[in-house]
Amino acid sequence: MMSSAEPFDVAIAGAGPAGTSAAIRLALNGARVLLLEEKKFPRAKLCGEFISPECISHFQQLGVMDQMLSAGASSLRETVFHSARGHKVAVPSEWFTAGATALGLSRSEMDQRLLERARAVGVMVLEGAHAAGVILENDFVCGVKVKTSTEANEYRARLTIDATGRTRALARHFDPESNSRSSKGRRGLVAFKAHLENTGVVPGACEIYFYRGGYGGLSQIEDGLSNLCFIVSASDVRRRGSDPDRVLREVVMQNSRAAKTLEQARLCSPWLSVSLEGFGRRILTPARGLLTIGDAASFIDPFTGSGMLMALESGQVVADTIVSQLGFGGEAQTVELVAREYEREYTRRFDSRLRVSGLLRRAAFVPHLAESAILIFGTSAHLRRKLARATRRTNSGQSPASSS
Ligand SMILES: Cc1cc2nc3c(=O)[nH]c(=O)nc-3n(C[C@H](O)[C@H](O)[C@H](O)COP(=O)(O)OP(=O)(O)OC[C@H]3O[C@@H](n4cnc5c(N)ncnc54)[C@H](O)[C@@H]3O)c2cc1C
Repeated sequence: MMSSAEPFDVAIAGAGPAGTSAAIRLALNGARVLLLEEKKFPRAKLCGEFISPECISHFQQLGVMDQMLSAGASSLRETVFHSARGHKVAVPSEWFTAGATALGLSRSEMDQRLLERARAVGVMVLEGAHAAGVILENDFVCGVKVKTSTEANEYRARLTIDATGRTRALARHFDPESNSRSSKGRRGLVAFKAHLENTGVVPGACEIYFYRGGYGGLSQIEDGLSNLCFIVSASDVRRRGSDPDRVLREVVMQNSRAAKTLEQARLCSPWLSVSLEGFGRRILTPARGLLTIGDAASFIDPFTGSGMLMALESGQVVADTIVSQLGFGGEAQTVELVAREYEREYTRRFDSRLRVSGLLRRAAFVPHLAESAILIFGTSAHLRRKLARATRRTNSGQSPASSS
């Protein structure tokens, strides 16, 4: 086993949008940052690939906006929700950020560009590096244990961040809830995703389809392709022999609009699938010296199209907190101050959004409720706008763009 002699200021496990957002911001402020990613990029990722308009200001701050556009991101001007019985309601992207559109771009392109930027600003990036556990001394996390295909290493750091998404690879060792949540997930929901060509999706729209037991989203990404991502009940998947094509035809395409837009579509990538564990807030500071961000901190319902925003934004919150509280010579006492301040700011920013999404989730998974909600919200643009913005609001009522 090898170990690095000089400790890093911050070690981050996971190079999704949360990990790279934190890493780039910390490195730009002079921190020595280690970023570990178990996959080799570019890699496909199960996601709706709808990048909400508020992410654009994050891309600008991180210095990757031009790279996202040159990767061929499509502009998405509105999200249109289609009920199972053919009713629809539209939410314009500019309700979230005046004058902006959302973007459609594959995660393999988006995440790759963020990772390249992290390297360019001086982050030490290790790909193919699995964060296997933490270095624990006197109940204090002092870094991370890493396995590659050839060796095992230990990297010491003053602070360690778990940005490994819903797997919570480091935090789950300290989280008694973890096991019960994963067993719930196996009984509950499964998500699928693939890239398609020749769909009938309206260019410039992200279309959301509701059907019995779930919902799916279809929108254009780069190279004239569309991304289809849908959530269904695990029992529906089992009944169809876990065959994604059958699930698509027999469950998703029961929605009349989905049946139309997907009728002539051809698959251009393998299906990805994952079972979904619980939604909502998790533990932000599972141990002294360890913080969680992105999906490792909270999983917001995908129909809000704001998971990547929360990932980028929580990366910003943690980086700002570390820079303002710690400088880069922190002792144990200071690290605990960082944890307290991070929890306070995180709660202020995200708890209200998570509450609203939790309420909407009930409607999303019950067909007649989703139907009624689409009918009611279809009658009033004012109501629709209020509800859409509530999925982004901070506790003090601001939108993320105005509170950053
Ligand atoms: C079905 C579905 C649809 C969605 N659609 C959208 C959408 O359209 N728009 C949107 O904004 N959000 C969407 N989301 C949410 C969005 O995907 C997440 O919120 C976002 O990816 C979270 O980013 P993250 O950086 O926290 O985690 P992730 O993106 O999950 O990144 C975590 C990274 O950590 C790496 N990793 C994991 N374990 C280890 C380990 N032990 N060691 C090292 N590295 C590790 C992984 O390989 C990965 O690269 C969707 C989610 C689901 C489930």
